[in-house]
Amino acid sequence: TYDYIIVGAGTAGNVLANRLTENPKTQVLVLEAGVSDQGVLAAIVPFLGPTLTPGTQYDWNYTVTPQTGLNGRTFPFPRGRMLGGCSSVNYMVHQYGSSADFDKIAHLTGEPGWAWNNIKQNIYKHEKVVPPADGHNTAGQYIPANHGTNGILPVSLPGASQAIDARVIATTQELASEFPYSKDQGGGDVLGIGWVQSSIGGGKRSSSSSTYLADAIKRPNLSVLINAQVTKLAKTGTVDGKPSFRAVHFSCDQNTNPTVVHAKKETILAAGAFGTPQILQLSGIGDKADLTALNIKTIVNNPSVGKNLSDHVLMPNIFNVAGTASLDGLMRDTTLFSVALNLWNTTKTGTLANGIVSNLGFLRLPKNASIFATVPDPSSGPTASHWELIVANFFLYPGVATPSTGSFMTLISALISPTSRGSVTLASSNPFTKPLINPNFLTTAFDIYAIREAVKASKRFASAYAWAGYVLSPYGGLSATSDADIDAFVRETASTMFHPVGTASMTAKDAKWGVVDPDLRVKGVEGVRVVDASVFPFVPNAHTQGPTYLLAEKAAELIISSC
Ligand code: FAD
Repeated sequence: TYDYIIVGAGTAGNVLANRLTENPKTQVLVLEAGVSDQGVLAAIVPFLGPTLTPGTQYDWNYTVTPQTGLNGRTFPFPRGRMLGGCSSVNYMVHQYGSSADFDKIAHLTGEPGWAWNNIKQNIYKHEKVVPPADGHNTAGQYIPANHGTNGILPVSLPGASQAIDARVIATTQELASEFPYSKDQGGGDVLGIGWVQSSIGGGKRSSSSSTYLADAIKRPNLSVLINAQVTKLAKTGTVDGKPSFRAVHFSCDQNTNPTVVHAKKETILAAGAFGTPQILQLSGIGDKADLTALNIKTIVNNPSVGKNLSDHVLMPNIFNVAGTASLDGLMRDTTLFSVALNLWNTTKTGTLANGIVSNLGFLRLPKNASIFATVPDPSSGPTASHWELIVANFFLYPGVATPSTGSFMTLISALISPTSRGSVTLASSNPFTKPLINPNFLTTAFDIYAIREAVKASKRFASAYAWAGYVLSPYGGLSATSDADIDAFVRETASTMFHPVGTASMTAKDAKWGVVDPDLRVKGVEGVRVVDASVFPFVPNAHTQGPTYLLAEKAAELIISSC
């Protein structure tokens, strides 16, 4: 028998697996639908991360429903389906968000424990900053006091220099009022452009599996099952008038009868922003009208389950560039690639020891932007951002193959404070049928305005003198200049940044909407918590693994202190 059953050995799930088994008397079972990450080279070599998704055995292979804001297009929405979850397949950008994000969550939930000054303490437990793979001097590239050196997960600055790095930094000096240099985005102050911190150590990916799980798996009180897909939680009784759900059904495929296991203390859903609301709905916890239509008996009618889906929007602005210093050649030329892989194999250095970007930053729309005449500022606060600029030294256009000739640079403009909200709903009562994922991208006036302005700003960035002789011309639809043409280009091009949150939102105990209380317990239910990115009520000013790690560390404290 187990004290806790954790559903999903993903980013957050493995943090809990580790922290809850620090007490040798606590028995924990983790159920993971996906496969092992052991020996999967692309989950170890940082630069190969993007080859793990979409359309592989390591991906859930979801597709978004036709997006009305994107000309009715559909496209893949990757999610990791292996030990480590998305932390094993993501692009390893590692940051925590704006202090304003957590202060806003504390305000929304009425729980000061979520405020930045409290939550930031978990950085030191979580993070272990290590030297970059190339051993370069990192002075001025981050603020050491913001970071941990004794935590569990190795984090480092870029491990291989790129030909365009110096031009990016020169642009932050030349155009300092619009694109200031940021010394460190990991300390709650995100504004400005600087050096990326990544979940990479010693030239290898740090996932929740290679760190938290690897550390804990030796303990006899931790059991982990892979190929174990949870199909539902079942009601086991009523406590204080609330149904308790301490039975967990799982199976390796739809032709095999489910096995049922029981948690003595709690069932913890850590199945991610799509998996968690799907399991809640399959268990009869959701919108009664939706569940009834699928002949699922409603046990707790909560229309918020699966709603409020929010994600950053990714918009690639691609430029033709001069020379052969971009990484496009490496990706086309198998001989060059083998040399790079050999270097990584022998020394864990070189381009493949690095993530796919070295510089990025968060920016605001101008104070006098016309949209604010009609729409309140949706950012978390005046120190938080509206959009992000990410600099990639190659052709980065999800779903579109690199052209066979030419050199490119991509400036991604990402919408960071979206106001569009979508949903995750069941397509069927069959747990093996994928849910309907509708992020509702760019369906509000603010969102299309902000991304349009971000596209224009990216072009201003690339027009700095620092790029003279290097940036040649905009590629494809980026040559658009009128607002209408830029909007058409955006709606034809934009897709996901892979940062879904909000589908099991955390709200105040007495709020009229929301799925979990500030202590992450499912509202109206006894014995079940949600600990994953789905509880963030809005998407933070960060690539979402860092905030998820801090959330999971905090959740572990909440769970341990409540028993
Ligand atoms: P996950 O890590 O997805 O964990 C959920 C786990 O539950 C998975 O292992 C899944 O297989 C399992 N599961 C789901 N359903 C079931 C079920 N029914 N039964 C059993 N197990 C189940 N973030 C960054 O910070 N930086 C980046 O560079 C970055 N790049 C990304 C690139 C890609 C391609 C993707 C997909 C994501 C990226 N992200 C990035 C996002 C980030 O990784 C996620 O937001 C974060 O890791 C989510 O953590 P989680 O614990 O909520 O879910």
